[in-house]
Order: sequence, then C-alpha cells, then structure tokens
Amino acid sequence: MDGNFNENDISRVVEADRAHIWHHLSQHKPYETTDPRIIVEGKGMRVWDQKGKEHLDAVSGGVWTVNVGYGRESIANAVRDQLIKLNYFAGSAGSIPGSHFAEKLLDKMPGLDRVYYCNSGSEANEKAFKMVRQIAHKRYGGKKHKILYRDRDYHGTTIGCLSAGGQDERNAQYGPFAPGFIRVPHCLEYRSFEQDGAPQENYGPWAADQIEKVILAEGPETVGALCLEPVTAGGGVICPPEGYWERVQEICRKYDILLHIDEVVCGVGRTGTWFGYQHYGIQPDMVTMAKGVASGYAAIACLVTTDAVFDMFKDDASDPLNYFRDISTFGGCTAGPTAGIENMRIIEDEGLLENTTNMGNYMLEQLHGLADKHPIIGDVRGKGLFLGAELVTDRSTREPAAEKHLQAVVGDCMAQGVIIGATNRSLPGKNNTLCFSPALIASRDDIDEIITAVDGALGRVFASA
Ligand code: PMP
Repeated sequence: MDGNFNENDISRVVEADRAHIWHHLSQHKPYETTDPRIIVEGKGMRVWDQKGKEHLDAVSGGVWTVNVGYGRESIANAVRDQLIKLNYFAGSAGSIPGSHFAEKLLDKMPGLDRVYYCNSGSEANEKAFKMVRQIAHKRYGGKKHKILYRDRDYHGTTIGCLSAGGQDERNAQYGPFAPGFIRVPHCLEYRSFEQDGAPQENYGPWAADQIEKVILAEGPETVGALCLEPVTAGGGVICPPEGYWERVQEICRKYDILLHIDEVVCGVGRTGTWFGYQHYGIQPDMVTMAKGVASGYAAIACLVTTDAVFDMFKDDASDPLNYFRDISTFGGCTAGPTAGIENMRIIEDEGLLENTTNMGNYMLEQLHGLADKHPIIGDVRGKGLFLGAELVTDRSTREPAAEKHLQAVVGDCMAQGVIIGATNRSLPGKNNTLCFSPALIASRDDIDEIITAVDGALGRVFASA
C-alpha cells in the first residue's frame, strides 16, 4: 500500500457500505455482525483490504476479469488522455479508438469482420439474441427464431440471458422467462455417467450428437442459433471433450444454424489463446466478449460477427425496418476501446499468452499433485490460467462435496491471504468446483503460494469434515 491509508476514513467507508450498499451475489444478514470486505488498492497480482491485509488474487478481481493485473499506469494514462480529448458520443457516430480497437481485435479473429460495442457480457449476448430474432423475421418469416443453450452454461443476468441460462440455481425465483430458448445437455465428461446412454469412449461426438437430437425434435427450420461457452466457467470449469467441437460445427452447418460463442470469460487471453474457440479449430458466426477486453479498467463488451451476418442487415436499404434497430448508450464511451487497445498491447509485448500457457500447465500439474494427496479432489481440469478442481466426498460414486465445505476452503484460503473461487451457489450438490483464474502475469512463485494455501485449507477443512 502507498501509505495513504487512513483508518478513520476507512471505518466511515465500512459504515457507509453497511448502511447503503447492496452487494452483488450477497446475503446481507452476516454483515450485521461482521464487516463487509472492501478492497482498497491493487498492484500486479495483489490487492489490499480495508484492514491493510494483503491478498494474492487467484481469481482476477473475483470473476475472471483483471487479465493484465492491477495498477497498469499505461492503461490509466491512455484512458485519461482520450477522456480529455473526447469521452463520449453515441448513436450512429463512430470514434477514433473505436475504429483502432476494432482493427486490432479483428486481426486476432480471422473470419470475423464487424464489432458492435456495448458494456457488459449480458448486454453483448442480448444483442446477439436480438440479431438472431431479427434474422428469423427478415429471412424466415419469424420461424427460425429458437436459440439453443447448454445445461451448466451461463450467459448473463438479464431475463433474456437467464432464459438462456443453464444454471438452475441462478434462475430459481426469476421466472417466467422468455420463450424460444431451448436447453441442450452439458458435455462434462466427469459427470457423463449421470447422462442416459453416455458411452465410456468417444464421449465428445456423442455429447455433440445430443444437440442434434434436440434440433431434430424442435425442427431445424425453427432453430436460429446455438450459443455456447468455449470452456464453461461458472458451471464448473468444463473443457469440452475430444471430438465435441468439430461435430458441433458440422451440425450447425448442416442445419444452417448460427454458432454464437460466448467468450465473456475466455476472451482475450484467459486460456492461452486470444479466444477460447481458437483451441478447437472452429469458425463461429458471432462472438461475445467482455471481462478481459479491458481487464476491468473500463466497462466494455463487444459482439463480433461475420460479414455474412452483418450483410443481412443492409440488404434492402429502402425498408425502414431493415437495419439493427438497437443501441447501447455506454457503447459510445471511448474509455473502453482505448483501454482495450492498451490491454492488447500489454498482452502482446509482455508475452502473456505464452505465460498463460506455461503457467497454466504448471498450475494444472500442481493441482494434480494436490489430487494425489487429497482424495476429496475428484477431478482437475481447465485450460491456460482458467482451472478448476471438482470436490467429491467419494471418488467411486463422485458424490459432490457440500457447499459449506467448499466455502470453508475458500474462507480458509482467504484467512491465509489467498483469494480463490468456488463455482455456483445454493442448489445442493452443485457448488463443488474450486476455481482458479489468476492474472495472466502469474509467476511460478505466485502459483506455488496459491497451491500451498489450498493444500493447507483442504487438509484443515477435510480433517474435521
Ligand atoms: N457470459 C459468461 C460466460 C459469464 O461468465 C458472464 C459473467 N460471469 C456473462 C456472460 C455476463 O457478463 P456480465 O456480468 O458482464 O453481464
């Protein structure tokens, strides 16, 4: 910390927080007797809380966001200069950083051509859903409007996105949802034994074929798009099995279904490639991204499409309904693309994709080492610096560990000064994957520190469980 830390000021902040702030994802009753946590400062991989305690952040700002780490002056300076020049203009006008960032981004996304700016992952996904619906109206008499989404995937917090939400615990009590969103089965091989008819071998193509079954049951002429996470995040860090994506792409092409990849978590380096889908040799029609685009230095999200999608919206210019009648007020903020440009420059100049691959492999090995020692770890998985350890009470039945035990592991690590995550909440048996997503600048020492903390926490929590 830089020494500007004033305890009196901070205690007032804590009181104001307790009196006025409604925290995300929080049950507030415990704050009546304990202090809410306030993060005051960050540098590199570390943050400091209101008590001056240092934490190694193994979740990039809580939810996979601060990819290039905290305290990046070059991003702050670039944004400052741009804000003084022009902070904002929206509607149908473009901007200088908007054009520059689009060029830079699309250079990393061969086969994709257009960027639509907005300001959250949910919003970007909503835009994609709206495009699919409008294409259905324009081209198919409204018929090809259904959007398929997968069990355990998450696409955002709005009613539209929750309608495409594969995590029941997040949806409970928020219905009714929008019609025309259809669920397909998950592809988590470790839990394939829970799926009727899943084979022991060649699970990937089988899992993809389950999508085709849903398409055939619904009628391919009614299905407009398939929306998937490349590696599922909050649903339990799920890497698709071998042979899955190739088959998914084939199915989409066969039935003329748009492939929408939700890169809100994987996008911009998290898995060691610019985008998660690039591990699998597939060509999406639409890609959405948010968190890592500017590493949390500005709010920005993008929906990227092919020209084939874009061109459908300009074919009959004399028809007043024939364009994408959509806007995002804060899609006109110039801070986002400015921060995005500098964020990408840092990733390139500091070799952070390579670092992510190398450190991700190292961390995966270390997690396997923990699994050898702690039978509570049933499965270890992930890609790059996007990793998970699924906890089970019995390796043979794969009975999920209890939520309270996962929270105890997270709490124990926190007490040791290491912030880790656990996926999902609230439905029994669902919250059983510990999550690790340190910034892409992580070193071996950082990873060793995380692993040591988790080792100690697992020992303590499960010795007494
Ligand atoms: N898609 C995925 C895969 C996500 O994990 C999230 C957020 N965790 C979203 C979309 C929604 O993003 P936002 O919170 O920015 O609306």
